[in-house]
Amino acid sequence: MVEFVAATANAHKLGEMEAILAALGSFRLTPRPSSVGDIVEDGETFVDNALIKAFAICEATGKPALADDSGICVDALNGAPGVRSARYSGEDATDEENRTALLRALDGVSDRTAQFVAAVAVAFPDGTAIVAEGVVTGTVATEEHGAGGFGYDPLFLPDGAGGRTFAEMTAHEKHEISHRRRALEDLVAALEHQGRC
Ligand code: IMP
Repeated sequence: MVEFVAATANAHKLGEMEAILAALGSFRLTPRPSSVGDIVEDGETFVDNALIKAFAICEATGKPALADDSGICVDALNGAPGVRSARYSGEDATDEENRTALLRALDGVSDRTAQFVAAVAVAFPDGTAIVAEGVVTGTVATEEHGAGGFGYDPLFLPDGAGGRTFAEMTAHEKHEISHRRRALEDLVAALEHQGRC
């Protein structure tokens, strides 16, 4: 069993990572210690932020730490919300407020192509790290559909999914094709290649 301390404080992301990793091998995620304060995510890319978070938790705990940084990048908005997805409509924005802001930004826009991107990083106490990125392409719907998932899921129509949003899929269906799944698959392959699991 390979054990990582999870850097995310987002229960939805943690749950998804646990479910995906369970399908990929023998992994255990321990929760981020409550004693670790807020981590400033000031990187310009998903990879930068995943590394910042993984190293912060690794340094705080002395144990290997796994971080995810993710978001939705809309072509017509030059890649926004991107790394600011969680804070798109303000610092303490709710998922619902962010979705409303995205629908407003795309009001009347016909090119609605977008990508969900996830970068995942494991930082080790010896100062090394492994990073991987996963992408799923799709389009932004004109209104919300479905009650599953979290974040922008009710607005994201992944390519090849028959016109259903991520929120209209079962968790299992989303995890088969998601950006997070693709990133974690590559991460596990790299960990295996380096003999770290
Ligand atoms: P982070 O904690 O800075 O990585 O925030 C990522 C934000 O991107 C989340 O708060 C969500 O709004 C959005 N996001 C990332 N992955 C997903 C997903 O799988 N579904 C829906 N929204 C997501």
